[in-house]
Amino acid sequence: MVSVAPLQYLSTRDAAPTPARLGFDEVLLAGLAPDGGLYLPERVPVLSPEEIAGLAGLPYAALAARIVAVFAGTRIGALPLAPLIAESYAGFGHAAVAPLKELDSGLWLMELFPGPTLAFKDYALQLVGRLFEALLTQRGTRVTIVGATSGDTGSAAIEACRDRDAVDIFILYPQGRVSEVQRRQMTTVSAANVHAIAIEGNFDDCQDLVKAMFADAAFRDRLNLSAVNSINWARIVGQIVYYFAAALALGAPHRPVSFSVPTGNFGNVFAAHMARRMGLPIAELVIGTNRNDILARFLASGRMTIGGVEPSLSPSMDIQVSSNFERFLFELKGGSGAAVAAAMQEFRATGTLPVSEAEWCLAQSLFTGHRVDDAGTRESIAATWRASGELLDPHSAARRDQTIPMVALACAPPAKFPDAVEAATGMRPALPPHLADLLTRRERITVLPNDIAAVQRYVSNHARPLAVPARRAGGAA
Ligand SMILES: *Cc1c(COP(=O)(O)O)cnc(C)c1O
Repeated sequence: MVSVAPLQYLSTRDAAPTPARLGFDEVLLAGLAPDGGLYLPERVPVLSPEEIAGLAGLPYAALAARIVAVFAGTRIGALPLAPLIAESYAGFGHAAVAPLKELDSGLWLMELFPGPTLAFKDYALQLVGRLFEALLTQRGTRVTIVGATSGDTGSAAIEACRDRDAVDIFILYPQGRVSEVQRRQMTTVSAANVHAIAIEGNFDDCQDLVKAMFADAAFRDRLNLSAVNSINWARIVGQIVYYFAAALALGAPHRPVSFSVPTGNFGNVFAAHMARRMGLPIAELVIGTNRNDILARFLASGRMTIGGVEPSLSPSMDIQVSSNFERFLFELKGGSGAAVAAAMQEFRATGTLPVSEAEWCLAQSLFTGHRVDDAGTRESIAATWRASGELLDPHSAARRDQTIPMVALACAPPAKFPDAVEAATGMRPALPPHLADLLTRRERITVLPNDIAAVQRYVSNHARPLAVPARRAGGAA
C-alpha cells in the first residue's frame, strides 16, 4: 500500500526559523506563496521497491490516483479524489493515456499529446481544473484565474476551466505572435466563463500585465485572483504520474530507465526529478534545450547567467528564467528558504544566480544538459523520420541516445508545428479528427491595449460575483 499520511507544504523562500506549513488544498488554491516562493512538500515521500512493483499493471487513472494520494490524500475537501482523476483522463484519445512507442532498440518515445488540446499540459491541467471546481464549490466561492501564454498553456488552461461554475478564466496572449492553431484553440471556445484576450504587445508585456494584476492587492482580493501556471504544485503532481507509468512499463523497479525532457520552465523535468527522489529508478535525466540554453550552459559551466530570449523552431522552450528551477535551488541550498530568497534577489539584481562549486557538482550528478539548435532540430526530425517513420515535433527533437532504455518525451504532436516538420521531412502532418475543423470554427476576438487599467477594467466587468450558491446537500464543507 502507498502511504497516505497527509503531507504539509512550505515555501521555498520562507526564511522563518520554523517555516509555516500548509495543506494540499491551500497550496492548490494559492499557486504562488505570498513571499514570492514556490510550494514544496516538507519531505519527499519515498516508495519502497515493493510498493513500486505493486503499481505495475494499473490502468493510468488508477496509477494517477495512487500517486496523487501520496501528495494530496484521497479526498479534496469532503469529496473522494479517485472519480475526479478518472474523469480527468477519460477524454484522452488513447487508451494507454501516455503511450510508449519504440523508435529504435532501447529508444522510446512517450507521446504526451492525446489530451484535448494536444499539449502535455493537459495531463496536469485537466486534473487541476477539476480540483479547483470541486474545492471551490464546496466552499461556496469562485476564483478569477488570470494567466499569460505564448501559445500552449493558454489553450490547455482554458480547456481545463471551460464551463466550470466556480472559475472565470482570462488568458492574455500577444496579438499576432501565437500560431493560428494556438490562437484558434483559445478564441473558438464559446464558454461564457472563458476570456481570451489579445494584447497589443509581446509575451513579456502579457506576463507583466498579469504580475501587475497580482501586485494590486485590492484588485487581487476583490476578484479572488488565482493562477494555474506551472508554478502551481498540483501541476507537478499531475506530471509525476507519467514518469511512473513509463518506467513501470519498461521494467521498474527492477530495471532503470532514463528520460530526455524538452525543457522550458523546468516544470516537466522537475516532476521527473521528484519521481526519482520518490524511489523510481531513473538513471539519467537529460534536460533538452534549444538555443535558449541557460540550463545547459549552467550544467556545463556552473554559471547561470540570463541572456536574451531568442525565437526558435520550438517556441514553448524559448525561456531564459525557468520559474520551477527555484524548487531545485531549494534542494541545492540545503532546504534553506533564507538562502533561496537571497539567491533569487541576487539573480534578479545582477542576472547571475549565485551557485557554489559543490552545488554545481550536485546539479551535474543529477542532470545532463543537451542543447539542440534549429539546424540540429531539423536534422533530428529528419533522421528519426528516416529511421523509424515517426514524425517528431520540434520540441521532441531535443534528445539523445543511450544504452539504458531512454524515453524521449514528445510533448506536442507534429501537427502543431507543420511548417518545421514539413521542412525537415517533406511530410505535412494533419490535425487529429476532433480538431480538423478548427480553422473554420467561429472565433471571438477581444483586443486590448498593453495598458493595465484597460485590462483590469475588462476583467472586473466580465468576472462573475465571487459567491456561488452551494449546490450540494449539506452546503459548503
Ligand atoms: C510547455 C512546453 C515545454 C516546456 O515544459 P516545461 O515544463 O515548461 O519545462 C516543452 N515543449 C512543449 C511542446 C511545451 O508545450
